[in-house]
Amino acid sequence: MVLAELGGSISRAIQQMSNATIIDEKALNECLNEITRALLQSDVQFKLVRDMQTNIKKIVNLDDLAAGHNKRRIIQQAIFNELCKMLDPGKPSFIPKKGKTSVVMFVGLQGSGKTTTCTKYAYYHQKKGWKPALVCADTFRAGAFDQLKQNATKAKIPFYGSYMESDPVKIAEEGVERFKKENCDLIIVDTSGRHKQEAALFEEMRQVAEATKPDLVIFVMDSSIGQAAFDQAQAFKQSVAVGAVIVTKMDGHAKGGGALSAVAATKSPVIFIGTGEHMDEFEVFDVKPFVSRLLGMGDLSGFMDKIQEVVPMDQQPELLQMLSEGTFTLRIMYEQFQNLLKMGPIGQVFSMLPGFSSELMPKGREKESQAKIKRYMTMMDSMTNEELDSTNPKLMNESRMMRIARGSGRPLRDVMEMLDEYKRLAKVWSKMKGLKIPKKGEMSKV
Ligand code: GDP
Repeated sequence: MVLAELGGSISRAIQQMSNATIIDEKALNECLNEITRALLQSDVQFKLVRDMQTNIKKIVNLDDLAAGHNKRRIIQQAIFNELCKMLDPGKPSFIPKKGKTSVVMFVGLQGSGKTTTCTKYAYYHQKKGWKPALVCADTFRAGAFDQLKQNATKAKIPFYGSYMESDPVKIAEEGVERFKKENCDLIIVDTSGRHKQEAALFEEMRQVAEATKPDLVIFVMDSSIGQAAFDQAQAFKQSVAVGAVIVTKMDGHAKGGGALSAVAATKSPVIFIGTGEHMDEFEVFDVKPFVSRLLGMGDLSGFMDKIQEVVPMDQQPELLQMLSEGTFTLRIMYEQFQNLLKMGPIGQVFSMLPGFSSELMPKGREKESQAKIKRYMTMMDSMTNEELDSTNPKLMNESRMMRIARGSGRPLRDVMEMLDEYKRLAKVWSKMKGLKIPKKGEMSKV
């Protein structure tokens, strides 16, 4: 079950239970069984799911459910808390600091996206003013050095590796030494990908760690490996001191459960997720916003970060002001479409808002969605200022709609569809009312 579906299944199970006339143990059990099934299908390890079920039963008080009106909220909150607990084993073992030399070693299975992730991690920090450097200690996979070199060159990040030297320990040691001398503050060591049965490769990994004395070891895991995640992660943890996890390939058909299981196995937090093959398809991972999104509860803090990235600086205060007022005009919708079309995978922004992801921007259909948004904008180009700025839902009568249809050369039903979409988004937008507007530089803490 892909991640987006998991959220849907859980929400449906809760909805079904809260619709029941009598909420007794049986109804609660049915709901929890449904959720268990969804989690198992998403590859969360069985033991974790069972523990979670037991915990929720302990927390949720049936009497409260029977009497209160907020059954849905109570259960949703309990599940939210449990999932957060599962995903949040605390801070990474080490947090690198800008300006102070840190060595970070990447480990993971071959094909997990480790080499790609090394560059993404370096690039992410470089954009924030760090001086990263990449060392390729993967002498096992032919082409690994070329790949790293290519990525590093593209991102203008210094790199070290060798076509001739076959001893990864030597390369790692030399590379780290060199970049220490060059005052790089984030020295990233990419190691050979390996499978947990390959004892020799595990030994090599231990030796690289011994030689380079990394401050932090990051375990890179492909989100689609499923139930195997727990065992793999544990095998790595037993060989080197894994201090953080990065989950790759969370785009497309990612199952999120493996990530939950890996966290449980390594007792290390996920710090970033990879959301595509490109260098900038890489996001800081925060437990609460992630679980909120998973359960379809929206992710306002991620949304704020994205606004900061996408919306021009001078328009940000205005947009946030409008958000906090909860007013949504067709002009605002137009401007937001404009902003969203400026960035690549615009689904990223939408998926952070409750209600946006599934309908306007279904996963895998971004191209169609972009075309639809452009169509909507063409129709809005035929609107008057009064129509664009109105907050009166009754203004858009039939004759106005016919005029817009004629003006934009689109059938009337398209205009109606666009206005329906506007109403739907206005409803979502209205949920933002009262949003606390962050001070400058404080966006990510909202
Ligand atoms: P390594 O063997 O672990 O070093 O893996 P690579 O870095 O060579 O990556 C294996 C494949 O996964 C490559 O085709 C990457 O482009 C791809 N990849 C890595 N991260 C992501 C991601 O977050 N999303 C997607 N869709 N592909 C990724």
